[in-house]
Amino acid sequence: MSSYFGTIPKDYILNLNMKIATIIGARPQFIKAAALSRKIYQCPSAEEIIIHTGQHFDEKMSAIFFDEMGIPKPDYNLNINGLGHGAMTGQMLEGIEKILIDESPDFVVVYGDTNSTLAGALAASKLHIPIAHIEAGLRSFNMKMPEEINRILTDRISQFLFCPSQTALTNLQKEGFDNFDNQTINVGDIMYDAAMYFGNKARKPEIDLPEKFILATVHRQENTDDDCYLRSIFQAFNLISTDIPIILPLHPRTKKALEKYQVQTTNEVLLIEPVGYLEMLYLIRNSELVMTDSGGLQKEAYFFEKPCVTMRFETEWTELVDNGYNILATPNLEKITDAVDKMLNTKLDFSKKLYGEGNIAELILRTLISENLT
Ligand code: UDP
Repeated sequence: MSSYFGTIPKDYILNLNMKIATIIGARPQFIKAAALSRKIYQCPSAEEIIIHTGQHFDEKMSAIFFDEMGIPKPDYNLNINGLGHGAMTGQMLEGIEKILIDESPDFVVVYGDTNSTLAGALAASKLHIPIAHIEAGLRSFNMKMPEEINRILTDRISQFLFCPSQTALTNLQKEGFDNFDNQTINVGDIMYDAAMYFGNKARKPEIDLPEKFILATVHRQENTDDDCYLRSIFQAFNLISTDIPIILPLHPRTKKALEKYQVQTTNEVLLIEPVGYLEMLYLIRNSELVMTDSGGLQKEAYFFEKPCVTMRFETEWTELVDNGYNILATPNLEKITDAVDKMLNTKLDFSKKLYGEGNIAELILRTLISENLT
């Protein structure tokens, strides 16, 4: 234990009773929380209560991650889903506030940029409970994205801003966060911990996989809610798949949008149900290239040394683009096909470390423990 906790005296650890309330609700948050939960669990004097807002709720978008990543069963499940932004965030705020009053945790941990993140942070801040925001400082500079609003507001009311990259830390500095009463720290990306730990446990999905394939995902509201962008993306999939098949685990939002706009796919675009994290890691590792609009997947492509084409106008992970690991292709047929063509024919050197050392959960927990001692 003493080596794990570095310089913190053992006596203090044993006497300390730190309660952390973790608020999660969406798929990428389960993956990030798995890494920190594991470290909290190993720490004899820290206790975690998990509040699941219910934003993602079915077997394939939620339960599977708890089962296969060993995340403790949530202590509370608010079951709030299928609502518009206002009703969803409002109901979450009300539900989380009640739990925080009853549980009185020392810290509230929130992840990323969803409505669950903002609701958790708002509830905690009004109760004067210090907030740790994991994945702080990310910016797309597109205020039309609901995620951008959630992350900016959450950052401003958090006390511990754990940034995943130097870019994220610089964003906060430019916005004047050094003048606020908080700590901004570049610890690295907690998804790197998850990818390294679970990478060895990657599992082949139970489907016939072609020898070579591209892995694709699409789920961002700006793409699924715009039939022109959605059509362009799927036209690109149809065209590219004539050369190399595409495996596409379909997000429920995208499934609905494809039905609504009657977008057709060819047989070479294999639409499958969302897969668990272990299967996803297998697909990434065995793909030729990743096409996505997901934040998490852009980095996972890089962690597993795969080129990536991001079908968006901007990305929060600009260092991937700056270093040539990722090409941004606005949702337009020609731009996407050109980018894929270029990436498939470029040899990349992945030796640069952009997101820390894979000990991010430990750094975060140590910071909170040190703070709790003072
Ligand atoms: N993911 C998964 N199964 C899938 C699709 C994605 O496990 O069928 C994982 C993916 O590997 C990444 C995370 O979910 O770790 C990304 O979530 P998502 O794309 O929903 O959100 P974002 O990262 O854009 O916030």
